[in-house]
Amino acid sequence: ENTINQIAAGEVVERPRAVVKELIENSIDAKATAITVEIKEGGLSFIRITDNGTGIAKDDIPLAFMRHATSKIRTAEDLFDIKSLGFRGEALSSIAAVSQVELITKEPSSLNGYRYIIEGGEEKSLEEIGCPDGTTIIVRNLFFNTPARRKFLKSAKTEAGYINDLMEKLIMSHPGISFRFIVNNKLILQSSGNNNIKDVLYQIYGRDISKELLYVKHFAGDVKVSGFIGKPTISRGNRNFMNYFINGRYIKNYIITKAIEDAYKPYMMQHKYPFTSLYYEIDPSLLDVNVHPQKLELKLKNSDDVYEITCKIIKETLAGKELIPHIS
Ligand code: ADP
Ligand code: MG
Repeated sequence: ENTINQIAAGEVVERPRAVVKELIENSIDAKATAITVEIKEGGLSFIRITDNGTGIAKDDIPLAFMRHATSKIRTAEDLFDIKSLGFRGEALSSIAAVSQVELITKEPSSLNGYRYIIEGGEEKSLEEIGCPDGTTIIVRNLFFNTPARRKFLKSAKTEAGYINDLMEKLIMSHPGISFRFIVNNKLILQSSGNNNIKDVLYQIYGRDISKELLYVKHFAGDVKVSGFIGKPTISRGNRNFMNYFINGRYIKNYIITKAIEDAYKPYMMQHKYPFTSLYYEIDPSLLDVNVHPQKLELKLKNSDDVYEITCKIIKETLAGKELIPHIS
């Protein structure tokens, strides 16, 4: 069972970023409104996620660390409802198989909480303790028992950078949650959780970029989208600044990328890419979700509509701004 978990773990947790992602998604599923993420050595020696969510009942704690244990999926149809982020029941078991995990959790209705220790998939202890409502998970010495996987990792600095990128996307996709991101005891990112996208973009990108942003909105019909696009002057040499979210989830989609690039084309030099932070609301029945663990890809059944609307709102917004077209 431990070997199976270690193999499965390789698929779910390929690097520290994946651990952070899975744990934050669990906190979000647990209705947390405040989440603190702390890492040391790029997440290799230490990851701690603290939330103020529902907590876990004593009897459910060991269960949560068993493979395919999930409290979130009842039928196959649920797989197509991406409103619930986690659905595989493999994250905690996979993480615990390849690290030393300490869980501290308390349900608001309970007088006391519990501390649970599991290392390399082996339960060490479960004891009653006093602690705040919610859940804290500490992951120490990731891949301590799978040195081969550890060798695939980049430097601590690079791994921390991956987690930083993830944090930015998660903060943008959940403006109603207050996040704190602490790297080697230093506060790096902080969001207020006041549900204001403009504030979130300011908190992540700072003043120089946020003052160059333009509001866009299209709320009629099946595809609803709103958010901010950058003036062409804040272009980048890669697509890192092209963000869009469908139903609260950061995703990649060829059609949306193409629509954004086509709309900006008159104003952009070759190999330059714009800033966007677009929030789509699309009926889940129009989405094709790939259920592979690390997949961000999503197919749209109404991609023509999405293309047209995306292009249109960007072109219309840029048109009124007396921007200088790029002459090639
Ligand atoms: P999944 O998220 O796919 O259900 P996980 O292995 O990620 O599977 O988590 C297993 C279970 O542990 C969850 O279904 C949930 O019941 C519980 N759980 C995990 N993290 C938290 C958390 N932060 N707060 C409350 N419950 C949690
Ligand atoms: Mg999960």
